[in-house]
Amino acid sequence: MAERKTLGRKTVSSAPEPRSCAQLLVEWFRTHARALPWREGDYDPYKVLVSEFMLQQTQVSTVIPYFRRWMSRWPDLESLASADEAEALKLWEGLGYYSRCRNLLKAARGMSKAGYACPPASVEELRACPGIGEYTAGAIVSIGYGLPVPAVDGNVERVISRLFGFEGLSGSTALRHNVTDVVSAMLKQLRSLPGKGATPRDFNQALMDLGATVCTPSRGGVPFCGECPWIECCLAHKNGREAELPLPRQRAPISQDDAWGLLAISPCQRELLLHRRPDEGLWASMWEIPWFIRKENFWKDFDAWCTALNMEIQLDRNDLKEVGSATFSFTTHRVRSQVVVCNVESVPSGEVWCFYPFDELDNLSMPAPSRKFLSCFNQNFIFCDKYK
Ligand code: SF4
Repeated sequence: MAERKTLGRKTVSSAPEPRSCAQLLVEWFRTHARALPWREGDYDPYKVLVSEFMLQQTQVSTVIPYFRRWMSRWPDLESLASADEAEALKLWEGLGYYSRCRNLLKAARGMSKAGYACPPASVEELRACPGIGEYTAGAIVSIGYGLPVPAVDGNVERVISRLFGFEGLSGSTALRHNVTDVVSAMLKQLRSLPGKGATPRDFNQALMDLGATVCTPSRGGVPFCGECPWIECCLAHKNGREAELPLPRQRAPISQDDAWGLLAISPCQRELLLHRRPDEGLWASMWEIPWFIRKENFWKDFDAWCTALNMEIQLDRNDLKEVGSATFSFTTHRVRSQVVVCNVESVPSGEVWCFYPFDELDNLSMPAPSRKFLSCFNQNFIFCDKYK
């Protein structure tokens, strides 16, 4: 075994052998595969499509109940292609990142329009659909159709970086290329493995499961190398660098913001003022309870917000009540919000404002902050009964 010495510490540098790594991994998967609803029965590319959209930025345990509800409502591509977007968004509520839901609908409609009864088995065609990148396309064709295509996400990048001791920055193009090359090399070896052999479907899922359950992120500890099939060949483990690799990229600093959440009640006392967000960006096009930055007192901040939006909302300035506080996060912001209730005297006309009946709010898909504001209202507003 070739070795090199660095700064007095013996560093093992010989690269693991792809064929034996692939064999160890698929053997491990035979007894350690996670039982997941999208793996039940015959593999269905439509189930893989839905699960992969839901799993972006979201943990498996969170996704499972959403996935089951989704499949009960839209069991195949055809039914999803004709789904109502508002209903889909409502079912998605709580998973966050609503653009995924919209893109999933658009992708299903596009595939259906092109004549497909299930997602195509072509990386190129899948990648032409909204919301489907290289990883998701690879996952659909390898898991759904058993084709030997890599599916490299952050988990796979972490596992392979450690196994081969790659020094690239997490998320960098260079590291992604190196990892994809290794996975491709391992996929090529599958047919030559002894016994019943292994499929690209098993192999890619095994990588995902190893990353999720054994070769876990370093936050708050180290991976479970003692349970890993690669413990004898892993360079990060041999060199004591499990917690270091992959090298973290610089993250944008988190900003702490203060805000007001405004529960503005209509003159008839049975409706709440909602604002429709812009068609692009965070929570695009969704109706939400208005909120704005808190710097001074409510009325000064409210007036500044109205001026910035070039609109006029008349509130009853003698009747402002605080009903609690809520915290929420988005991108690199953490927001602490005071929640207030006020009666509205008049609002601007136009398509971005509406009064929405209290008793129908449960059926509306709303961003997470709005649900938190409503929760404050329901728990703490002493007159809330009359609004139900
Ligand atoms: S031995 Fe440890 S660091 Fe290496 S792949 Fe396995 S769990 Fe990850």
